[in-house]
This record gives sequence, structure tokens and C-alpha cells, in this order.
Amino acid sequence: MVDRRILVTGGAGFIGSHLVERLIERGDEVLVADNFYSGLRSNVHHLLNHPQFELVRHDVTFPLYVEVDEIYHLACPASPIYYQRDPVQTTKTSVHGSINMLGLAKRTGAKILLASTSEVYGDPEVHPQQEGYWGHVNPIGIRSCYDEGKRCAETLFFDYRRQHNLPIKVARIFNTYGPRMRPDDGRVVSNFIVQALAGEPITIYGDGQQTRSFCYVDDLVSGLMSLMSSDPGFTGPVNLGNPGEFTMLELAQRVIDLTGSASRIEHRPLPQDDPSRRRPDISLAESALDWRPKTALDQGLAKTVEHFRSYA
Ligand code: NAD
Ligand code: UDP
Ligand code: UDP
Repeated sequence: MVDRRILVTGGAGFIGSHLVERLIERGDEVLVADNFYSGLRSNVHHLLNHPQFELVRHDVTFPLYVEVDEIYHLACPASPIYYQRDPVQTTKTSVHGSINMLGLAKRTGAKILLASTSEVYGDPEVHPQQEGYWGHVNPIGIRSCYDEGKRCAETLFFDYRRQHNLPIKVARIFNTYGPRMRPDDGRVVSNFIVQALAGEPITIYGDGQQTRSFCYVDDLVSGLMSLMSSDPGFTGPVNLGNPGEFTMLELAQRVIDLTGSASRIEHRPLPQDDPSRRRPDISLAESALDWRPKTALDQGLAKTVEHFRSYA
């Protein structure tokens, strides 16, 4: 039975395409709006003939008039090489895109969820990061178009709630990985796996002692769906991520072990403003959503390696 009509902006992207599959499986009708800036038609190609699925090429910086019950607002490039390619468009996507989607939510009465990011914490002085931490973000650096764009998007969500009483939900997503990351995506998990499978050097930026916490995409999607169906009074922001914390050197070693690669490690310069550590405190997600990730890094990496082998 078809339950709800759901708009997923950025639904042809990595996380969005997994979310769309799960919503369709659950019985929802799904409309994807995507301009294919960093997403791929092939991510949703298998859904094109599905009776519950519809796809429009649309840039969210322009208004969109459709009738829906819920909006998952994911449109925004997430990988540094993509979001830095056209930084003005990145800020526009977060700011104008959020205003348009909030305007749509206001007109239709739809519940709206923002895919925000751990980048709102910047290079954090507090570890692990809790939602109450206001962050440590450079407003004028090469990452700012993404970080400040998402911070402003969060502001807009909370102002639309205060001013217009909109039902909002804000997720702060930590580094997520899994099948359908693009081989040229530029993020660390895809880079290391592609390099290991090709027998090319594994590129570690800086000394490799910086840390990240990696969440498998299926776990993350469960978190987004739990947040959307949480108590009406619960808005977040809520951290969604896997608290397991690894240095980039440890990640490289795991990828080498899993692939049996002969690749060696090569160091490259550390990009400007690269955060030195990152780990979510997920106690709020555990108590408010009864959510926690289930997939260990080695399990998730094995599935991701399988995906990339199919490209090789
Ligand atoms: P992605 O780049 O694979 O997906 C983003 C999608 O948005 C793409 O399909 C892209 O074409 C689309 N898009 C970009 N600009 C658009 C615009 N102006 N109009 C319409 N569509 C547009 O990235 P992802 O990893 O799937 O990330 C999805 C969301 O989750 C993003 O909002 C991202 O900021 C957030 N997020 C992701 C991570 C992560 O680790 N993957 C971490 C934190 C937050
Ligand atoms: N908007 C949209 N779809 C809708 C309703 C509004 O894209 O269904 C856009 C509209 O173009 C506007 C923005 O959302 O620029 C914000 O709408 P809101 O009603 O909050 O502001 P206003 O139209 O009063 O400026
Ligand atoms: N990184 C790396 N080698 C790569 C790509 C990234 O060492 O080939 C590092 C990067 O400098 C950062 C970490 O891995 O410290 C995570 O980078 P990613 O771009 O995946 O995510 P983000 O920095 O946005 O968390």
C-alpha cells in the first residue's frame, strides 16, 4: 500500500539513492529532484520503471512546486573536490536550496529533514563532538562554502520553525561510506579502495594521524528514517555516525589487508583546514531515536570493496 509521497532532493547521489530504495521498499511514493552535479543517473536507473518512483532534473536553487508529505533535503555535493569545484554554487545550494525547500514545506505542510554535517563542528576543540558544541569553523577558507553553507541551512531550518512553526528535523551526518560512492569521488574511503585495487600508491594526506569515524550507509539511512518518524517535538540537531574512530594510517592498513593489495603508502600535503579529529557522541540519537550503527568498519569496508571490484 502506498503510504506517503516523499521528496528526496539529491536522491541520485550516494546516500540519497540508498534512502530512496528503502522508502520504496517500505511502500512510499518517492520523487527525486536532482541536478546531477555530483550524483549519477545510474544510481537510480534500476528504479526508473518502478510505479512508486519519479525523477526530475531540477536544481534546488530554483523554486519547485510539487505536492508532498515529507521532504528529505540532501541536495548538496559532499566531497571536498566536488564542493570546491564551484564554491559559490555550493553555498547557493545550501542557502537558496534550503530556502526553497522550506518554502515548499511551508506551503504544503510537509515535514522536512535537513542532511547537515559534522563539518558544522569544523576542526573541533571538543572531543568527541556533542550537539551542544558550537564548532570551530574558518569562515573564509576553502572548506567554508560547505561548512558555512550547512551552518546557515541549519539556521534557516530553526528560523522557519520559530517563525512559521514548521515540523523540522536536522541530522548532523558524520563521514559515511559504502557502495555507490563514485570511484572519482575524492573522499578517503573510495580513494583508498580504488588505489588498493589498482595496485597504485595509497595517498595519505599529511602524517595520517588525523582521525575520522566512518558510518556504513545502510546504518545511516536507518538513522535518517528514524529521525523523520521521531516525536513531533524532536527537531535535533542530532549526530548520526559511528563512534569507532580511526587514523587515516589505520584505515589505509585495513584497506590493504582486506584487498590483499601490494600498494605502498605515499604521503601528500595536508589540505588547508583539514580537521585533525572527529568522532560523534551519539547518546542523543541512542536515547531519542533508539538508533545506533550496527556495521563494524571491516564488514562495511568488505561490502564497499565488492562494489568497487565491479568497476575494476
Ligand atoms: P553526493 O554528492 O553523492 O550526493 C549529493 C546529491 O545532490 C547529488 O546527486 C547531486 O547531484 C545533488 N545536488 C547537488 N547540488 C544540487 C542542486 N543544486 N540541486 C539539486 N541537486 C543537487 O553526496 P552524499 O554523500 O550522498 O551526501 C548527501 C547529503 O548528505 C549531502 O547534503 C551531504 O552534505 C550530506 N552529508 C554527507 C556525508 C557523507 O559522508 N557522505 C557526511 C555529512 C553530510
Ligand atoms: N517555494 C518553492 N516551492 C513552494 C513554495 C515556495 O520553491 O511550493 C520557494 C519560493 O520561491 C520562495 C521560497 O520558497 O522563494 C521561500 O518561500 P516562503 O514562502 O518562505 O517565502 P516568500 O515566498 O514569502 O519569500
Ligand atoms: N584523505 C587522505 N587521502 C585521500 C583522501 C583523503 O588522507 O586520498 C584524508 C583527508 O585529508 C581527511 C580524511 O582523509 O583528513 C577524510 O577526508 P574526506 O575527504 O573523506 O572527508 P572529510 O575531510 O570531509 O571528513
